Amino acid sequence: MRTLINPATGAVCAEVPDTPVDAVGAAVERARTASAEWAEATPAERARLLLKVADLVEAEAEELTRLEVEETGKPAAVFRDGELPFLADNLRFFAGAARSLDGTGAGVLSSGYTSVLLRRPVGVVGSIAPWNFPLVMAVWKVGPAVAAGNAVVIKPAPQTPRTTLRLAELFAKAGAPAGLVQTVTGGAEVGQALVTDPGVDMVSVTGSTDTGRAVMTGAAATLKRVHLELGGKAPALVFEDADLAEMAHGVAMGATYNTGQDCTAATRVYVAREVYDEAVEALRATLAHITAGDPWDPATDIGPLISEAHRERVHGFVARSGGRIAHGGAPVDGPGFFYPPTLVTDVAQDSEIVQGELFGPVLVALPFDGEDEAVRLANDTRYGLASSVWSRDVARAMRVSHRLDVGVTWVNDHLPIASEAPHGGVKGSGFGKDMSQEAVLEYAVTRHLMIKHAAPAERDSFRPA
Ligand code: NAD
Repeated sequence: MRTLINPATGAVCAEVPDTPVDAVGAAVERARTASAEWAEATPAERARLLLKVADLVEAEAEELTRLEVEETGKPAAVFRDGELPFLADNLRFFAGAARSLDGTGAGVLSSGYTSVLLRRPVGVVGSIAPWNFPLVMAVWKVGPAVAAGNAVVIKPAPQTPRTTLRLAELFAKAGAPAGLVQTVTGGAEVGQALVTDPGVDMVSVTGSTDTGRAVMTGAAATLKRVHLELGGKAPALVFEDADLAEMAHGVAMGATYNTGQDCTAATRVYVAREVYDEAVEALRATLAHITAGDPWDPATDIGPLISEAHRERVHGFVARSGGRIAHGGAPVDGPGFFYPPTLVTDVAQDSEIVQGELFGPVLVALPFDGEDEAVRLANDTRYGLASSVWSRDVARAMRVSHRLDVGVTWVNDHLPIASEAPHGGVKGSGFGKDMSQEAVLEYAVTRHLMIKHAAPAERDSFRPA
């Protein structure tokens, strides 16, 4: 039995049993049966299921909010009015995507033959999710896989299993074949059981870069397809012509949304030296206005960190940095695992706090001289997920964006996403896309069907008379 802790209070909020490692195989077996049936479902049938689940999610908004807020401590309004409508939109997008997956091409590619390209499901997908956006991540994994005709066995993070368990129930309630969407619970051991099970055809993981490596290694023995959404350390590049008030708002929000526990969070702000002091002061003043507290209070902007251990980890980065703390920088007293928005300056580019993913509401600011240096510093970490460029000069913003080794660049904003837009990284941030039509293709295999339409050939040595 695993005890779940409410990070906003430090109190126990529920107990959920872990799936025994030796029971994972049975779930995979059920998924294999379901996948054979679901692979034959028409695009319209797949779409109908996903649309129904989207409706059920909305109908259960209050209960899902309660579960998610208890386990993560995130502000209820942020989840109920932001993440939940967004993930319902994701499901509806995937429903539409299911219906535009086929018909990718038919043509005469070789004289006398008609070629047809078919999208077939991969089969059984083992999905592994993190704790920072439990239900959004579950939808990003299950939605495109089901749209492409696969069965899914998903393992949520051990800290935050209940909304994913509920999502699997909603799939059953919506009429999914038995075993189409199943949840297994537990930690890395249960995750590895999924990764190494020969009945699983593909593994999709969102988590840290080290976890991605462990999953890829585990999947190698059975040569599974892998999809890796890993860590990030997003830079924000602020040029001297930027609107500094807009920048301070956007970067402070980008750094602290979900208490900075976001793989695309703004974590390193590089500012043109000419406006560095002004920008740092604007950021400090904006961060000072962000309210951390009771997730059920509508005035609360951010909740706590996920656990005491994680808070100690975040604070360790700050304490060891040796930098100037322009704002925040110490754990908040009282119940819960709160940590304030924090701004650190005067640290070296190669220091741990600049290079490592600390996954908290901590921003480091450094000056740069010129575009080339800005790009060099931005690209100088092992990660490559997200970034933003702040400038009123469109050509410069485009020029700089093109040179960043990342999956996404925002210009004059940081964080917004859309169901139609692919999300995913490069380098240590992994590979593969979530959301968008590209996500659905991650879970599909393209098959070539070549049909001879030419008249029978003249006799040759392979056709004796
Ligand atoms: P984590 O890597 O500790 O765990 C993620 C999941 O992997 C959990 O379910 C965990 O139980 C499982 N796991 C851990 N070790 C495993 C192993 N060896 N084999 C199989 N499964 C294993 O990450 P976390 O602390 O839950 O989440 C934070 C991390 O997730 C951050 O690094 C963050 O950047 C990343 N993240 C990335 C994205 C993205 O889209 N790129 C989105 C959200 C979070």
